[in-house]
Amino acid sequence: MTSQSPAAGGAGLAGLRPRLPSPLVELPDERFARHGVRLLLKRDDLIHPELPGNKWRKLAPNLRAAAEAGRHTLLTFGGAYSNHLRATAAAGRLLGFATIGVVRGEELADRPLNPSLRYCVASGMRLLFADRATYRRKTEPEVLAGLVERAGGDCFVVPEGGSNAAAVLGCAELGRELRGMADVVGVACGTGGTLAGLAAGLGEGQRAIGFPVLKGGFLGAEVERLQGEAFGGRRGTWRLDERFHCGGYARTSPALDAFADDFTARHGLPVERLYVAKMLYGLTTLTEEGAFPRGTTAVAVITGAP
Ligand SMILES: *Cc1c(COP(=O)(O)O)cnc(C)c1O
Repeated sequence: MTSQSPAAGGAGLAGLRPRLPSPLVELPDERFARHGVRLLLKRDDLIHPELPGNKWRKLAPNLRAAAEAGRHTLLTFGGAYSNHLRATAAAGRLLGFATIGVVRGEELADRPLNPSLRYCVASGMRLLFADRATYRRKTEPEVLAGLVERAGGDCFVVPEGGSNAAAVLGCAELGRELRGMADVVGVACGTGGTLAGLAAGLGEGQRAIGFPVLKGGFLGAEVERLQGEAFGGRRGTWRLDERFHCGGYARTSPALDAFADDFTARHGLPVERLYVAKMLYGLTTLTEEGAFPRGTTAVAVITGAP
């Protein structure tokens, strides 16, 4: 490892030329127009080619904090297809941090790496495979200390999905960019960090709807916990619609596939399937159910690229 300090504290992040504020574009869609609803896309997927969407918004404040703390190594967590692991690996390569990814599933250590993990390794990330029991307990101090020890110590730890108070504060900027632009904002949720920040950043009279991609009904409490950590309590107007997980994380249904294929055919826009497709499916369904009064402007946050 070099003794040179990572660039993230100074011009490093700005040097990556993020496209911020991200573009906001109207998308004419007859399923919305019929109900008097305008649909706009918030193109967070265009912020940076390797750190797209909410991954930029959540990682940027953590990278600054790591650089300020003089840490050279980032340690974080994810599943075998985690967008957050990939973004962290890319950030490390671009900004001069060593990166360590704790991957859920010990059995994966003996198998060929999937394309997502291959990208992480090619970006210089060291992978530590953890059995599922250890992975589940990764936030417990002794378990975390053990993982940091295995990683060689002295790491800046970023939680799973990148969602901590700093990340939530970073995502509040997404809400602020949308002030005066929308009545309702739809966003896909994994850990809920993006929704927690987005809702807090929106202005008076604006509201957010989160569409969880995981099954389980635990996310409302988690969003409240993250808002408590970042702001000291619940902020903004938000709710969840839990009907569109389509079987759970990385699962799909024939209806979702048909929706996403049709959306791409209508608009010439490929749709990220794990998160964005479920949010668009949810927002379209709510519109068709008449959930929004005529004259509503709805924004769909495109949190990532296919
Ligand atoms: C990570 C991710 C999300 C989920 O964000 P959370 O803050 O964890 O809720 C949504 N969309 C895309 C494309 C993602 O990669």
